[in-house]
Amino acid sequence: MRMYRYLRAAALLVTPLVLGMSVTTARGHGDTEPAFVAVDPAVRVSFRVTWDGTLIRGRLVARSAHGFQLRPDDGEPGELAWYEWSELEARTAYETYRRLIPRKDADAWFDLGVLMLECDARGYADRAFAVAKRLDAAMTDRVYQTIAAWEAGDSEGTDDAEVEDEAEEGETTDADAADDDAPPPLHSPASGVRVRDPWPVLSAEEQVAATEEVKASAARLLKSADFEIEPVETKHFLLYSDLNRSETKRWSGEVERMYVRLVRALDMPLDVDLFHGKCVIFIFADRSDFIHFEALGMNWDASGAAGVFHGKGSHAYVSFFKSDTDAQFASTLVHETVHAFMYRYRSPVSLPTWANEGLADFTAGELIRASGEPRSHWYHVKNFVNQGGDALKIMSQSVHDGTWYDDDSYPVSHMLVRFMLRFKPKAFKMWIDDIKDGEAWDDALELRFNVTAEELAEQFGAFMEGEREFVR
Ligand SMILES: [Zn+2]
Repeated sequence: MRMYRYLRAAALLVTPLVLGMSVTTARGHGDTEPAFVAVDPAVRVSFRVTWDGTLIRGRLVARSAHGFQLRPDDGEPGELAWYEWSELEARTAYETYRRLIPRKDADAWFDLGVLMLECDARGYADRAFAVAKRLDAAMTDRVYQTIAAWEAGDSEGTDDAEVEDEAEEGETTDADAADDDAPPPLHSPASGVRVRDPWPVLSAEEQVAATEEVKASAARLLKSADFEIEPVETKHFLLYSDLNRSETKRWSGEVERMYVRLVRALDMPLDVDLFHGKCVIFIFADRSDFIHFEALGMNWDASGAAGVFHGKGSHAYVSFFKSDTDAQFASTLVHETVHAFMYRYRSPVSLPTWANEGLADFTAGELIRASGEPRSHWYHVKNFVNQGGDALKIMSQSVHDGTWYDDDSYPVSHMLVRFMLRFKPKAFKMWIDDIKDGEAWDDALELRFNVTAEELAEQFGAFMEGEREFVR
């Protein structure tokens, strides 16, 4: 995914939440309601209330550990509605809540873990607690005691089956960051051996059937957010867009051209069908409709995203909205589609986050000549290196544990991939193949590039320091 710059900055301005609430009092519900913290600027949300399915759209303006205040889109001027977090699907509550809290605030992550326990969503609680412990090692005991207390006092909802329900099988979502990307499902079979199996190759007849199957799913996803859109179908893509028809047609031509260029850039044979049926691309004219669709169709909080990729089993879905300029729009399109490519390339194994994002940004910069991003990332990294920044830190960040991303993550990853491709393009290709076949990325790095991750970071720093001016 690509981050949506304005909102991301806004999320950091939210006042830290310090509750220090124990599980016992939290589960008691009779205690004093913790104070609301203003969310300014407000964050756009869409969700269905779990107990009656009512669709809610509006702006979230304040939050507490128990719930939040919302200005409904269809409300009277000044009307405020109040919802408890437990009225949302656990996943929606988790994704929304984590966007509202400061990323490095261990206490806030701990509170989110407690909230998830209250929602009987142990898998999400574990993720939040893992982030809290990483930020502050002193949290370890507190987390242990909290979980022990919860397990002792909890008679239901702790079985594994319930946790499994939270995550769809084999699902992966790329939405660049703690804001931008999602941790993958903890209990997904994606972490097992099965994931290394190569994607099956389908016959022509099977591909036709697969396309019908993908169309039916896309229509279902749209319907769950009250959209009904007829696709524009190309050789490899299904475009669902509420832009006007001629504009959609124009972009459908662009994505096919881009497909060919990407296949060449990644050195793949042109005659192989990469996608299961076709790759679905959702394009919304309005950002608010994009967020709404992501919330209801994908159960994903996209309020900080410029675009998102979802891999659901064998299906690939890209979704984003029309940006201000064509260059921005095309860059986001390429970036997300590279994620779709890499998901469907060889096997479902994912690249390390930095390589996945770096490759997406690099490819977008190569294909969209009008984009100013490669140059601005280059300057950013010059500065990063001059101030003693270490690329190893970025390489250790991951969407899987919530550490991805900070301000340096995208620029450094982009320039790092550029560095690797410039000097060893063949090794880069083999390295990706190794990872896709199940090798650990750092082991494969030593095999193909003859360097450890530390050495790569050092060499990259020295290269960036010495490079006098930006060249593509
Ligand atoms: Zn991305």
